[in-house]
Amino acid sequence: MDLGISGKRALVCASSRGLGLGCAEALAEAGVDLVMNARGAEALEAAAERIRTTYGVKVDAIAADITTDAGRARVLEAAHGVDILVTNAGGPPPGMWTDWTRDDFIKALDANMLTPIALMKALLPGMMERGWGRVVNITSQSVKAPIPALGLSNSARAGLTGYVAGTARQVAPQGVTINNMLPGIHATDRAQSLDSSVAQKEGITIEEARARRTATIPARRYGTAQEFGAMCGFLCSQHAGFIVGQNILLDGGGINATL
Ligand code: NAD
Repeated sequence: MDLGISGKRALVCASSRGLGLGCAEALAEAGVDLVMNARGAEALEAAAERIRTTYGVKVDAIAADITTDAGRARVLEAAHGVDILVTNAGGPPPGMWTDWTRDDFIKALDANMLTPIALMKALLPGMMERGWGRVVNITSQSVKAPIPALGLSNSARAGLTGYVAGTARQVAPQGVTINNMLPGIHATDRAQSLDSSVAQKEGITIEEARARRTATIPARRYGTAQEFGAMCGFLCSQHAGFIVGQNILLDGGGINATL
């Protein structure tokens, strides 16, 4: 399917690996020029170069922490006037509700709620002025069903979801859509680190932890960054202009709910 967005420009945050990289690749395959971002310069430049040579699109790579004011300013300078924004950042660490301090909550809110909001605030006006834009926020299945050990994530992402629900309806008249993608378990470094934290806590091997988690997913496997990216590409396409303020769950059937 031709996504109809060849020649457009996108900022994809936190995209040197994992789900962000999957989104960057899908957009590049559709002919979209990219501003890619991640904290580590080396992995980011390697990913950017691979995308340039594979898809022949322009890629600017900005190594910066997207959750800091200074990092965001550098990224936004390079991303001025983009048509598409994909927000992403690392998720908060797991833990126990008894241990989280105010500082832990502020960090999680900064990374997974206030950073995407700041990026939207900076880039939505240009999209609205030009009469076309797409925003996709990578959140989590924890928005639909809480993951007890990820209370910091449950809280921050629920806040972002509420903000998007209202804002998406305010920018839609100008041809701009905002939607969220909710990953269930995907085979990325993040999943690996959550599995190893469970393995450590329960005194089992990481393979055992992974097998137990796989058994809870009706599709009986982890998702891939490629299939996640394909959905992102579609939401950013010309065909998705009537999809507004939605929360798209990609979880292999993991959350047992009718709606
Ligand atoms: P990952 O650890 O595989 O990759 C994270 C990417 O983000 C890397 O490119 C890293 O360099 C970059 N990054 C992290 N923090 C950053 C920051 N502050 N500034 C700039 N770049 C930063 O993670 P992933 O599995 O791709 O997950 C992406 C998001 O989706 C995370 O927020 C995660 O919590 C969420 N999520 C993932 C899963 C899963 O199963 N993989 C499930 C639910 C939610």
